[in-house]
Amino acid sequence: MRTSEYLIATQKESPAEAEIVSHQLMIRAGLVRKLASGLYTWLPTGLRVLNKVTEIVRDEMNKAAAIEISMPVVQPADLWQESGRWEEYGPELLRIKDRHQRDFVLGPTHEEVITALVKNEVSSYKQLPLNLYQIQTKFRDEVRPRFGIMRSREFIMKDAYSFHADSESLDQTYQRMHQAYCNIFERIGLDYRPVIADSGSIGGAVSHEFHVLAESGEDDIAFSQASDYAANVELAEALAIGERADPKESLKIIDTPNAKTIEDVAAFLNTGADKCIKTLIVKAGEDTGHQFVAIVLRGDHTLNDIKATKHPLLSSPLVMANEHEVKETFGVSFGSIGPVNLPCPILVDRSAAMCSDFICGANTDDKHYTGANFDRDVPDYEVADLRNVVAGDPSPDGKGKLEIRKGIEVGHIFQLGEKYSKALNCGVLNESGKHQILQMGCYGIGITRIIAAAIEQNNDKFGIQWPEAIAPFKIVIIPMNMHKSQRVAEVANRLYTDFIAAGVEVLFDDRKERPGVMFNDMELIGIPHSVVIGERNLDNLQVEHKNRKTGEKQLLNIDEVVACLT
Ligand code: ATP
Ligand code: MG
Ligand code: MG
Ligand code: MG
Repeated sequence: MRTSEYLIATQKESPAEAEIVSHQLMIRAGLVRKLASGLYTWLPTGLRVLNKVTEIVRDEMNKAAAIEISMPVVQPADLWQESGRWEEYGPELLRIKDRHQRDFVLGPTHEEVITALVKNEVSSYKQLPLNLYQIQTKFRDEVRPRFGIMRSREFIMKDAYSFHADSESLDQTYQRMHQAYCNIFERIGLDYRPVIADSGSIGGAVSHEFHVLAESGEDDIAFSQASDYAANVELAEALAIGERADPKESLKIIDTPNAKTIEDVAAFLNTGADKCIKTLIVKAGEDTGHQFVAIVLRGDHTLNDIKATKHPLLSSPLVMANEHEVKETFGVSFGSIGPVNLPCPILVDRSAAMCSDFICGANTDDKHYTGANFDRDVPDYEVADLRNVVAGDPSPDGKGKLEIRKGIEVGHIFQLGEKYSKALNCGVLNESGKHQILQMGCYGIGITRIIAAAIEQNNDKFGIQWPEAIAPFKIVIIPMNMHKSQRVAEVANRLYTDFIAAGVEVLFDDRKERPGVMFNDMELIGIPHSVVIGERNLDNLQVEHKNRKTGEKQLLNIDEVVACLT
């Protein structure tokens, strides 16, 4: 590629909103441009990196026997109603209508679509296991899009979904995907940790996140050097505080915009006797004034069961609370996307999440109810303060002490079990000819987020230092004053042709710019190797090679350069 035929979109300044280094550098190096909040255009250099990451992920997925497909971004609402997530997912789900006023969503994830597909395409246990993936644009209407493409509204995810006749098979594929994820992050050259995690709104029991360690990370990762123990702090806390209660119980927090009066809320407080609710709390959101209702669902019950009680407060719209509002309201992080679904111990932390004597009430001023308390049936496994897990605490596995670092979540894998297959009745005929619901796993990687995470770990004051595996170009040729020197031009053009013939991705900076401008741009863009061609070194038939990461320089004979750097 010749810069004269390319778009080098470097700039000196980054916008004030770019708080973290990867965001600043992605703008300054001309990788992306903001279109609107959480929406970005990928410029040529950024797209080259994106394609590199995509290819590594695709290659490791293929090696792990996952099969690529492509599903629509726009999904019909019916499927989401069937799974229950039309109500559960909350405001992160962008809902749209077509010209016939039919409801659709812009896919934030694809469990429903894939389960409906497999239900129709697979009929026998002999076709299993099956692992399908896609690399595709997702849309999530994030409450606070920030850090550039790190938390954007439109982003690219690799999402895979596996289907199994039994849980042993699911476990095997899960382990294989876990390994494939490790391969991916190692190939890219990231310092990362797999950690046990909360499965959030996606559901299921077993779950791991993959975190790139970086100060700008939004999650806290607790791990013990003395063992393999590593967990998202949200979960480390839940585990550190003792035995899980009934693992089927789940906490839901619902925003109830329908509660207009204090009587509405008071009435709802009295529905705790309902067989599916174990515990219920109502609290008013500080910012929004909305009521949040926190309930622990017993056993296998879902929000649909509660809806079926037809309590007036629960008439539509029943929406899941937004995670950030919940955090502000309850003072603890309930993790994960919009809807909230946690193992029980977190809920029963009365000291932090559920202090007594709440103020709750209506969306109208002066219509508040003070002194709301736990209703009944408070679980008897009270626990310590959620936020008390700190560095130096003993590891929950008893081995060593916990260290706590910040992490950027770049991947998340789940054993879903029957959550979606049951709701959408996705099964096969088993060996004895009986219809059997399938076991499912799902596996996500934030392709675009990986790029920001890689920059967080690889930069200096001059710009990006790409790991070679995802660099936009491997080599840049920088001829000094080529437009004045026939000799420099000749050698530069020859090396350029030779690198291309050797199959190397090379950028040839043939702009009519001062050497200083070229050096600055190329350091900012972060190309791993530069070959500088100048009159002085040509007297000895040499050129200068500089390594972007180490800063090391060496002189190479012109006829060795290509062999040396390929
Ligand atoms: P987060 O906790 O950061 O909101 P998540 O838990 O909601 O992420 P998942 O549903 O687990 O995300 O999706 C799989 C992967 O998609 C995440 O691990 C992350 O790498 C990526 N991802 C999720 N949301 C975004 C976003 N808004 N922008 C960019 N990448 C994202
Ligand atoms: Mg998360
Ligand atoms: Mg999220
Ligand atoms: Mg996640």
